[in-house]
Amino acid sequence: MTTINILSQNMVNKIAAGEVVERPASVVKEMMENSMDASATRIVVDVEDGGKKLIRVSDNGCGMDADDIVLAFAPHATSKIITDDDLFAIKTLGFRGEALASIASVSQVEIVSRPSDAIEGARLEISAGKQSPVTPAAASCGTTITIRNLFFNTPARRKFLRTANTEMGHIIEQFTRIALANTETHLSLTHNGRTVHDLPDGQTLQQRIGLLFSSDLADALFPVSRKERDIEITGLIAHPQQSRTGAQWQYIFLNGRHIRDRFIGHAIREAYRGMVEINRRPVVFLFLRMPPADVDVNVHPAKTEVRFSNSNMVHSQVLAAIRDRLLSSDLTMPLRGGDLTGTPVVPSSSQGTDADSSQDRQEHQERVRQAMADFFKSSASRQTAMNNRPAGHTPVRAVPNQDAFSKPPDLLSHSGAPVTDDASFMETPGSPPVSAGPIPTAEQYTDRHIEDERAYTDEIGPVLQIHNTYIVTETQDGFVIIDQHALHERILYEELSRQLNRGPLAAQRRLIPEVVDVTAEQIAGAENHTELLDEMGITIEQFGPRSIAVQSFPVLLDKADPGEFVRDLLDLFLERAGNLSREELIHHVLDMMACKAAVKAGDPLTEVEIRALLAQRRLIQQSGTCPHGRPTTIRLSLAELEKQFKRT
Ligand code: ADP
Ligand code: MG
Repeated sequence: MTTINILSQNMVNKIAAGEVVERPASVVKEMMENSMDASATRIVVDVEDGGKKLIRVSDNGCGMDADDIVLAFAPHATSKIITDDDLFAIKTLGFRGEALASIASVSQVEIVSRPSDAIEGARLEISAGKQSPVTPAAASCGTTITIRNLFFNTPARRKFLRTANTEMGHIIEQFTRIALANTETHLSLTHNGRTVHDLPDGQTLQQRIGLLFSSDLADALFPVSRKERDIEITGLIAHPQQSRTGAQWQYIFLNGRHIRDRFIGHAIREAYRGMVEINRRPVVFLFLRMPPADVDVNVHPAKTEVRFSNSNMVHSQVLAAIRDRLLSSDLTMPLRGGDLTGTPVVPSSSQGTDADSSQDRQEHQERVRQAMADFFKSSASRQTAMNNRPAGHTPVRAVPNQDAFSKPPDLLSHSGAPVTDDASFMETPGSPPVSAGPIPTAEQYTDRHIEDERAYTDEIGPVLQIHNTYIVTETQDGFVIIDQHALHERILYEELSRQLNRGPLAAQRRLIPEVVDVTAEQIAGAENHTELLDEMGITIEQFGPRSIAVQSFPVLLDKADPGEFVRDLLDLFLERAGNLSREELIHHVLDMMACKAAVKAGDPLTEVEIRALLAQRRLIQQSGTCPHGRPTTIRLSLAELEKQFKRT
């Protein structure tokens, strides 16, 4: 027979700690939030050994007297809610009353606190939930809590902690979120005695972003502001060119609390649709305010997820706020070096030229897209009229909201096989296209077309580049349209993996190291991946507290911008390294390299270059798809053409 026991309170706290306290960064978050709730105007966070050894948070807030200090560590002890109604009108960051109890059950805590009206402070020590008596202590007004040896009594969890650098990365992220939401407060963070951040009080959001991230980013921001019904949205959004590869660059705050929300994430993607390359994420800092009764913040122990009573409304407001700003003419003006009417943001001059060329490129691509759309649209209607879909055909992909263009699936297929999904001319960032049928894997695709590859004659026939984007060339039984970027990307990917199999990538030492502004978190990420960076032929050194110098860079990437590349790479490390195997991570890095180094859509190519590209095409195994699995090539057979021209 089983015996049911009631767990001891300390055990209950330890279990709760598993929910609230995942790692040192969770402690930093809870402590800083308590300090903010105590109306502190200055908070100092000192960390040793990634928080594994020590975390100390000192504030000048309201403090606690001797009685409250003892109570604060009792489970479900909170000064922030009293009645049921309070739970639905939460204005503080904390309210569950479990952080201190949970933390104290899995660490050694010392607290010293003094309210402003007391003549002396009080001190309490707790180790693994066991309290010692409170003693008087000399202290200035406010509270200092020191947490030592987190998880010392739960070895399984202690073992789970990562390197000091990784843990510090998480701490910096939590610190950053609180710092963004509280620009009035003086906040500082040190690690092993070294200053990571020191943010003066009374900053604007833009100034704070400049200090937390980089002045480049701060200079490319646009204000947004919108109020409708009870929802108010303010904040800064970055120019599409500032997009990054990681989602952690989207900071969303609701009533002062950092949250993650997939509705809002989706609205942001929708708003930037068509302006940001696929696989990249726009950078935004958004602050939502709404009546506390319209949102439930009590759905997640760390309160990072919330439930809106009207999430559709939130979605449409966020979309409208960003979209209106992006579509307003001010967006391109300042970046072209023009007048900054109404924009508090001064762009750096170098962005002007980039913006010009990218603007041209965007317009150009838009024209190509339109021309292709027209072509396929008219072919589609003809095709539908003929109503002779090959048997066994599977529609390939339905791309939602693709109003410019919807591709007739069978037109481009070869003997009914789904040849192409959204080829790169119809690439749409944003929500992934809904798959309406099987999409061939790279292997399937290659198998299916291996015959074709053979039929592709040794002699390269006449070649033609259209719209500086596609290459058209004859095959024995028709012609192929090749996406120059996708093909080159595939070729480079293969070349890079081949080189890497033999050893580190060939690198070139830079005469003048490129200095890149990065975040403290990115520096920590780089330190964690020095070995991988070495293999990739990238040498970076820390250069000041928030910048690094790129000393060497792979030869094959001579067309890429080392600074931009390294920054994206560090984002990738932060975002993905935790849940990818080493092989997968390498695949992603090579992918990024190939994409950056490849010719782009819109690059004019000489005939010699085109022929060189086509010659290399036959040397690689899977020329049929780019590393992302998109097809590089669309084939049209003579038979297909004849059908189109109603010759059959
Ligand atoms: P919660 O924040 O959910 O109320 P905590 O366990 O984090 O629960 O804290 C318990 C109580 O301790 C708080 O409600 C508050 O009254 C008090 N407290 C905690 N930290 C501080 C601080 N830095 N300054 C003043 N009071 C604090
Ligand atoms: Mg709290």
